[in-house]
Amino acid sequence: MQQIPVRNVPSTTTAVGGKIHVRLTEGKFQNLRRIISGPLLLAYLLLVWIEVDGQPWLLFDFSSHRIQMFGTSLSWYDLPLLAGVMIAGSALLFFMAVGWGRLWCGFACPQSIWTWLFIRIETFTEGRSSVRARQEANSLRGKRLLRRIAKHLLWLLAAFITALTFTGYFVPVRELVSDLAQLQLDWTSTGWLITMTALTYLNAGLAREKVCTHMCPYARFQGVMFDSATRTVSYDAARGEPRSNQRNRGSDSGDCVDCGLCVQVCPTGIDIRDGLQYECIDCAACIDACDAVMDKVGRERGLIRFASEQQLSKQSSPLWRPRLIGYAVVVMLSVAATVWGFSQRSPVLIEIQRERGALFQVDSANNICNYYQMKLEAFDDGLKPFQVILTGPDGLTLKGPSVVEVSLKPRWFDYRVCSPAGTMKGTSEIAFEISNGTLQLSKSSTFIAPGI
Ligand code: SF4
Ligand code: SF4
Repeated sequence: MQQIPVRNVPSTTTAVGGKIHVRLTEGKFQNLRRIISGPLLLAYLLLVWIEVDGQPWLLFDFSSHRIQMFGTSLSWYDLPLLAGVMIAGSALLFFMAVGWGRLWCGFACPQSIWTWLFIRIETFTEGRSSVRARQEANSLRGKRLLRRIAKHLLWLLAAFITALTFTGYFVPVRELVSDLAQLQLDWTSTGWLITMTALTYLNAGLAREKVCTHMCPYARFQGVMFDSATRTVSYDAARGEPRSNQRNRGSDSGDCVDCGLCVQVCPTGIDIRDGLQYECIDCAACIDACDAVMDKVGRERGLIRFASEQQLSKQSSPLWRPRLIGYAVVVMLSVAATVWGFSQRSPVLIEIQRERGALFQVDSANNICNYYQMKLEAFDDGLKPFQVILTGPDGLTLKGPSVVEVSLKPRWFDYRVCSPAGTMKGTSEIAFEISNGTLQLSKSSTFIAPGI
């Protein structure tokens, strides 16, 4: 394969003193990112405020050990279902990485979404990237100082709104805002607000691309997931080289006019013409910038494009290869298993505990009795009372409440199961069944009598 020549792009004004001044660009991929990230950002900010039947639509309520999720109340017992959601999400990420590289990073990752938001605030307050880079050497005073202060204040405001929303997913947001307004916020919520504000401000405002290149674990293991058929943002060196600017072009010049725009718009400050680099987050800003340049100089778009190594070297490059199909199958299986898990979820937890102290007791009427505790906990509000019956060998009698109410707090009920002496021997299987007409649940246990 043709070696891509490595050279420095002269004075792109993007990186001054180690700081990258990202130039904003427009194009179809930037529009696509807006179409993806806009609704995601809005969903993050608004979901926390939605209530259905007086219940938050999404709330991880640690105090009551409940997760309110889209009209369903999950308990800690349902955490494996959330693990299923995470496994399905991870499988989807792997699938995307094998197929299209770091597409998630460039278009939907919160770090990217917030970084672009903060870059827009920076452009709004301090001007375009070229202006910011030029002024970097000037002393910070007068209007420039005021603009810098405005930028940091707006960053802090954005970070605070982010943190308030985030905390609102764990503490009912209306209570949170009301407590905050009355300066009565508890220490836990205050700690979360301060921590998340600081993290958002640091990650999206100051650290930015360093999070993607040095801190993100996903970036590290993605390298091993790529293969020569993975469609990532690539520079077509065969078409672009030898690069030369418009003035020095000759008959053998490639399509790259060496304008440096692809570097100026890159949020991680790399030159995609140097080949595939782990810093590239596949945001496609360089594609849009280069396509605009190609339009201007009258050449075909796509000098930088989503392409695989095989496609660039003009080999056949099927997208659906065994690896990608394998990941697609894992995604579908994990989604199906999670959906099935949700469909099997019971709105009531039932547990039976036998008395531990003695195997059996003999009562005054010479019956052999075993003692049990039944724990019931509802995960949905407003369930009708349950009738309790016992199933098992003939001759067993159940003593204890025959109708029980369930609530969102666990409740315990005492039961005694007896059989006349001599009618049963050894261990027998029994089951406690509860039914309220719409829901029927059962939990098995054992009855122990003397003898074998
Ligand atoms: S934007 Fe396109 S033409 Fe300009 S330097 Fe980059 S690859 Fe070359
Ligand atoms: S090289 Fe292009 S796709 Fe990669 S991070 Fe930079 S601008 Fe985004």
